[in-house]
Amino acid sequence: MGKAVIAIHGGAGAINRAQMTPEQEQRYIAALSAVVEAGQAILAAGGSALDAVTEAVRLLEECPLFNAGKGAVFTHAGTHELDACVMDGYSLRAGAVAGVSRIENPVLAARLVMEHSPHVLLVGEGAHAFVAAQGMPLVDPTLFSTPERRDQLERAQAGDRVVLDHDAPLDPDRKFGTVGAVALDVEGNLAAATSTGGMTNKLPGRVGDTPLVGAGCYANNANVAVSCTGTGEVFMRTLAAYDIAALMEYGGMSLQEACAGVVMDKIPALGGSGGVIAIDREGNVALPFNSEGMYRGYGYVGDAPNIGIYQE
Ligand code: ASP
Repeated sequence: MGKAVIAIHGGAGAINRAQMTPEQEQRYIAALSAVVEAGQAILAAGGSALDAVTEAVRLLEECPLFNAGKGAVFTHAGTHELDACVMDGYSLRAGAVAGVSRIENPVLAARLVMEHSPHVLLVGEGAHAFVAAQGMPLVDPTLFSTPERRDQLERAQAGDRVVLDHDAPLDPDRKFGTVGAVALDVEGNLAAATSTGGMTNKLPGRVGDTPLVGAGCYANNANVAVSCTGTGEVFMRTLAAYDIAALMEYGGMSLQEACAGVVMDKIPALGGSGGVIAIDREGNVALPFNSEGMYRGYGYVGDAPNIGIYQE
């Protein structure tokens, strides 16, 4: 069995390198390091991979630098619709919420769906009612609003564009992303979690890959845990996270080969961009992306966190 390890991402829509100031870069690095360290601490204390990814994603949701929870993007209607998913590789149980606007930490709601409902995915008002019945307070949707996101919506609407958050070298709006975490614990269990505000100026009701098991999030102790960020529609059509697991299970590929095949070949072939974070059952880590940058980090228990934003 590999050593316990956690990997996280803050989205593949990193700020264009030429526009990133050293101060901004330091803010991102500090935020990502703190989250990796929090995950490492849980794993070091014998905590489960499931608890480590849930807490890492909760912390990323709390951080307004990333497009999940506070700092989530606006829909075309000027509202917020958040999606999240969590999956336990030991039991293959999963929980998810989509199109929610009154849940402060969608990843915690996803975990409630997994542990306290017979279902996998709850949407909109049904999800709000379920978590409220579970004792989770509902919040005012304006909690998620930040002036930066409002400006971003206004620019996107002025240009009549749905901003995909990714990969437009000269477009300052495409600088934020989804968040996610994958982990392997000391027992050899894998888990994954992903959470997002989606895309700026998306149509109300649009759901992306993030809350869909096998598209934006997947974990199976038999092989791998994966969390995705990128052009959601393409990650849905390729079942990107599950495809990595299938290439390993049925194709005999290594973690690196399977991730490269999906991120560098299959996603771009359909016009998508983005990346994944993945950990296999041996504790190998892969963080490939085909965009200019992806906020990312990982740390084995006992080691210092490794943080990156751009291609090395
Ligand atoms: N995949 C997310 C979505 O399509 C967006 C992102 O990763 O930034 O909702």
